[in-house]
Amino acid sequence: MKATNSIPVIHQQAGSVAGRKFRNLRISLTASCNYACTYCVPDGKRLLRSNEEISSQEIIRMIRLLKATAGITKVRLTGGEPLLSNKFDAVLAQVMTMGFGDVSFTTNGEYLLKKIDIIRASGIKRINVSLDTLVSERFRKIARSGNLENVLRGIERVLEAGISVKLNMVPMRGINDDEIISMLDFSLARNIELRYIELMQMGHLLNSPEFDQQFFGMDEILELISNHYSFSETRLNPDATACLFSIAGKGRFGIIANKSRPFCVNCNRLRLTSNGRLYGCLSNHKNHDLRPLLDLSDDEAKKDLRLVLSKAINDKKTPWFMGEKTVMKFIGG
Ligand code: SAM
Repeated sequence: MKATNSIPVIHQQAGSVAGRKFRNLRISLTASCNYACTYCVPDGKRLLRSNEEISSQEIIRMIRLLKATAGITKVRLTGGEPLLSNKFDAVLAQVMTMGFGDVSFTTNGEYLLKKIDIIRASGIKRINVSLDTLVSERFRKIARSGNLENVLRGIERVLEAGISVKLNMVPMRGINDDEIISMLDFSLARNIELRYIELMQMGHLLNSPEFDQQFFGMDEILELISNHYSFSETRLNPDATACLFSIAGKGRFGIIANKSRPFCVNCNRLRLTSNGRLYGCLSNHKNHDLRPLLDLSDDEAKKDLRLVLSKAINDKKTPWFMGEKTVMKFIGG
């Protein structure tokens, strides 16, 4: 009689350590950006694309491999500025056919008008736009470039196309904290969810007094809002990174409180940079080069990728964001 193996084979998903899994993939299409926001890059230096940037076909293959091995369900294209990259159209179109439950991208909004046909045709349902101010001169001081009018017109066109928009605002003391309410009014009037992002100690802000001077945290944001609106906190799924609040009859807003209410223990994000490096944690500059996998067959590449993913999940630092020298636009915000 033939011996049978009665021990069940467990296909453990890579990228899962003690119940932790990667689910959410952020892909930086390029490190280059048309803006040079004060909190993102020092001295107004606009970062350029790296010579090592991988192609759109290579990105798409990496996404397929990551979907198969890590069990990714959510994808966000980011950068640098994703709309600046000539890979944007192809990668977005392909990602939309891959069966992910949720696809979005994050943009500074400058090129939304130019790209509206591509965006609409892709079938994407939602996007995030970073907007720190509604005052033109201030806008150019923070972004050190750009045109607020273009961004606002772009947002309107996206909404007209039936695509939902979330706005990301980084409130900074003495810079735009007086716009916390006007930004919320603007968003509620347009059925936009505003997310206040607490300033993060990244790149040049890591060891800089600027960080403490400018940090404007969740408690103060909520106190200001409570003078204008009554709101209640909404329960979210456990892996959510934002604290969400609803204002009855008007809408809701969120706070990504990296410092005040850290969410690292629940984080399931994985980041792929524009030069093919995989980062398991925003708080850890350790990364894994995926480019050698491109020379392998799918089966071999998946085998190697499972090993890489189990290392990357161990790169996650807890319990809170500890600061990192890497600039957000390299790693993909
Ligand atoms: N260019 C796109 C944009 O502007 O949305 C995508 C890349 S940008 C790096 C992504 C997000 O990172 C933006 O919402 C930006 O505000 C945020 N960001 C960058 N540096 C940050 C910091 N030090 N603290 C908090 N948020 C930061």
